[in-house]
Formats: sequence, structure tokens, C-alpha cells
Amino acid sequence: MIDFHTHSAASDGALSASDLIERAAAEGVSRLALTDHDTVQGYLSVCQKSPPGLDLISGVELSCQWGRVGIHVVGLGFEVQATDMKAHLVVLDAARKDRAERIAHRLERAGIHGALEGALTVAAGAQIGRPHFARWMMSAGHVASEQEAFKRFLGSGKPGDISILWPSLQDTVEVITRSGGVAVLAHPLHYRMTATRLRALADAFCEAGGGAIEIINGRPKAGESEQLWRLASDRNVRVSVGSDFHRDTPYGAGLGVSIAEMPEGVGVWETL
Ligand code: AMP
Ligand code: MN
Ligand code: MN
Ligand code: MN
Repeated sequence: MIDFHTHSAASDGALSASDLIERAAAEGVSRLALTDHDTVQGYLSVCQKSPPGLDLISGVELSCQWGRVGIHVVGLGFEVQATDMKAHLVVLDAARKDRAERIAHRLERAGIHGALEGALTVAAGAQIGRPHFARWMMSAGHVASEQEAFKRFLGSGKPGDISILWPSLQDTVEVITRSGGVAVLAHPLHYRMTATRLRALADAFCEAGGGAIEIINGRPKAGESEQLWRLASDRNVRVSVGSDFHRDTPYGAGLGVSIAEMPEGVGVWETL
């Protein structure tokens, strides 16, 4: 089992980076990438002390945009100290802080006060994101669940859905490859595109130098992986897999994805 898409408390995951990798090792994962949103702080905190039997590779899930659509690109196996990557992460830090202020401002106008302080307290130094707002809104009694927070306030088209200018898909892919890593198009079916748009996205991603498409993210529905497999093989790029683990949930995927049934010569894991 391997896992090339996971989150720790350095972004919006529940487990500390060290708890996450201990757990992955205990559950039989042999190779893992910690891919926090727009930060490598979790990875840096554990990269010198991965448990026996676990090969930890560098990772990050970068926010970017293709036209007006927000897209996530996972970077794997890059040099974390590369100048380009460090500069890119500084830009994303600032963008997320700026967005958090704007989200709080919008919530203020919706009658919800103190959201920035609340979300920052929940984040406790992590890369700030909408899930921290959702958790704070729940604990402050504004909503009954995080799902409700997204549905009413933070999700697409809602007041806290701020369209900011993330770096472009092309720049993002290039930063990863220039830093010696492989860029992976994360969860292509989450963007709710038509098949035609999705093929155009995959083309743009590959043209920019993207190296793999994520064909398993969490628990795919029937047929999804096959569809994504074709998206990758039609373009001669490799495939990647990951749980996208954030926390234990009754129906969510646990850590680790089996690659026992995968044919040889297609996995991004063979190149890292
Ligand atoms: P952000 O990166 O700050 O835009 O927040 C996006 C993150 O919020 C995703 O990575 C998910 O972990 C989480 N998320 C997105 N949509 C929902 C939802 N409807 N309910 C709960 N969590 C969500
Ligand atoms: Mn997340
Ligand atoms: Mn994502
Ligand atoms: Mn993710």
C-alpha cells in the first residue's frame, strides 16, 4: 500500500504530521507523501524521522487556477528548499491570509462576528483554510455541522466563497517540475466539469509539463478510476493514487491505497 495524497494538522487535517506517519506505517503503508494545502511545514517537521518501513517523499497540494476554475495540483518528490518552490509558497501564504480576512469580512456582513480570530485560533498556526472557519462556526454555535457551514456560508456561490487570484495552473506545474518534482492533477472529478472541459484541463496540465493524473482519490465510485485511467493513458502520462485523508469519518477512506492490481510501467511511484 502507498498513499500519495494526505493531510496533517499543518493544513486542514486532524492528525499531527508525526501521528499521521506513525499511523500510516502501523497500517502497512510503505510509501507516503504528506500533501498539505500550500505548505510543507508538516513534512519538514517529520522528514528526518520517518518510522521504520515507511518511505516518506516530499509533497504538497498547491491551490491554483485554470481560467476561473480553482484547481489542485499535487507536487511529489521535489526539493523542498528549491528557491522557486519556497517563493511560491510565500505567495500562497499571503494569498491565504488575505483570503481569510475577506472571508471574515463577508461573514461579518452576514451577521457572524469574530470569525477571523476564531478561525485563526482553530488553525493554531496551520495554513489557514475554509475548514478552520467551518470548525469555528460550529463550535461557536452558528451552524450544527461543518457540512452546514459549507452549504450555507463557505461553499461555492456562498458569501464566504471568495474568488481570489491563485497562481496559474501553468506556473504551478512549472514550479514543481523546476524544483525537481512531478506535478499530479489532483481529483479531476471534483471540479464538476463536462467531459470536454475535463479533457481540455488535462491537455493544459500536460502541456505545462504535468507528469501524472490522480486516478484514485479516497473512495472512487464505480467507473471513475477507469475514466481517469483513460484520461491519463490517452496523454501518455502516469497515474497517482491517494486517500486524501483528513480525519477518520464513518464513510471516508482510511490511509493507504493498494497498488497490487496496477499494471507495471504506469504508476508515478515507479519514478519517485
Ligand atoms: P480551502 O483550501 O481553504 O479552499 O478549503 C478547501 C478544503 O475544504 C478542501 O480541501 C476540503 O478539505 C474541505 N471541504 C471542501 N468542501 C467541503 C464541504 N462541503 N464540507 C466539508 N469540507 C469541505
Ligand atoms: Mn482539505
Ligand atoms: Mn484538493
Ligand atoms: Mn487534498
